[in-house]
Amino acid sequence: MDFRSIVKEYEPKIMEDLFGLLSIDSVRTEGTKDAPVGQGPKDALLYMLSLGERDGMVTKIVDNLAGHIELGEGKDLFGILGHVDVVPAGSGWDTDPFTPEVKDGYIIARGVQDDKGPTIAAYYAMKILKDLDLELNQRVRLIIGTDEESDWECTKVYFKNEEMPGAGFAPDAEFPLIYGEKGMTTFDLVFKSDIEPIGDHVLISIDSGERYNMVPESAQAVLKSTHVEDIVNTFKNYLNNTGEKGDFEVKDNEVSITMYGKSAHGSTPREGVNAAMLLNNFLKTITIDDRALKFIAFGDHFIVDNYDGKQFGINYTHNEMGESSVNTGVVKYAYDGESYYGVNLRYPVGLDFKAALEGFKKKLDIHHFEVENLTHMVPHYVDKNDPLVKTLLASYRKYTDDDTEPFTIGGGTYARVMERGVAFGAMFKDSLDTMHQKNERMKVEELLLATTIYLEALFRILVRGGNNED
Ligand SMILES: [Zn+2]
Repeated sequence: MDFRSIVKEYEPKIMEDLFGLLSIDSVRTEGTKDAPVGQGPKDALLYMLSLGERDGMVTKIVDNLAGHIELGEGKDLFGILGHVDVVPAGSGWDTDPFTPEVKDGYIIARGVQDDKGPTIAAYYAMKILKDLDLELNQRVRLIIGTDEESDWECTKVYFKNEEMPGAGFAPDAEFPLIYGEKGMTTFDLVFKSDIEPIGDHVLISIDSGERYNMVPESAQAVLKSTHVEDIVNTFKNYLNNTGEKGDFEVKDNEVSITMYGKSAHGSTPREGVNAAMLLNNFLKTITIDDRALKFIAFGDHFIVDNYDGKQFGINYTHNEMGESSVNTGVVKYAYDGESYYGVNLRYPVGLDFKAALEGFKKKLDIHHFEVENLTHMVPHYVDKNDPLVKTLLASYRKYTDDDTEPFTIGGGTYARVMERGVAFGAMFKDSLDTMHQKNERMKVEELLLATTIYLEALFRILVRGGNNED
């Protein structure tokens, strides 16, 4: 069956329903008991459920945070996971972000690409399957979350009591398919020393980075000294010799030094130049106070040039998912306050993270550092040869001429919520990525193509029992 023409017939209805969803401002706001992440996200959820009811499907709302639309009968369940909350519109739009418009073949509105467009595409794949009145071998459920952009409260609550699908996909990333996502942890390496800051040059503060998942592009240190000019001269020479970029500013007996690096995403630290590491390297060359010396020495040992976790003893390389990665995104030092290195570490399946972390913690004791504020998400991985992957991929390839292999990523997608879930669309190879940006947009053509591919996938799984022969 060629589903392209069938989907094309539905275009006016798809557009109408999508426009209704896009018109709801579903940014998370202060919650109430009846709307835990705000009225907007809840209204968007109710809107989706109303489409399901209108079209004769079974719906359910779960704790006003999530819900589902279900089609078919049987013991087994196939899941599709989308979300209807959006990030704030921000400024600089050419149109009203919550008044969708079509211009030059693009639908423009906040959330059209992430994730309202793809969610509607998946919904219509279900609706068309229903209208075709074919016999289905299992149930299919569109699970709708309202807090993906913040804390995933929606799926946490949902899967507490609701059934876990046997397999599924999340239309919340890109084609062809993402089947592995690294484990992710952030923690602070907090300095616990009570050494007195005695020395020629006293370090008052270090300030670098705001976000754990970004490589900091600048790092600043403030030093106090009776010989500020010594520091300045050393710094000037240092910049000359290394060719690195920096600035300084003298004020009485204090000097503020700034090093410049290059920003990059925390999942690819080698693509950036970590300014905090550059600063650490410089501070190592001056006669600094005893307390700061310990902090800098620790950085030299564990942080500088640590891109893969080897220096922590938390590292592993997987043949498909690649190596573990470390980004020290935040560095703070205070003369008489909290001082720490803030780390974002990602790792592939196969690493015993708990054991590695325990080993690392033992090494820290003698340095007077401790691990604090740890968050952790385990890696997510579905076998590349899983029939689910094969069927989704075949469905995608039937309607595109793209042979790109499925891949794994360092970041996380919504798909990881499902035990046997992969991310599948809805951005195409040549789509403009406008997620979370002003003038967010999606081609009408891409919306229809994604719907067609999802319909094909559901047809293959629920009607043909996973048979991929053409
Ligand atoms: Zn999303």
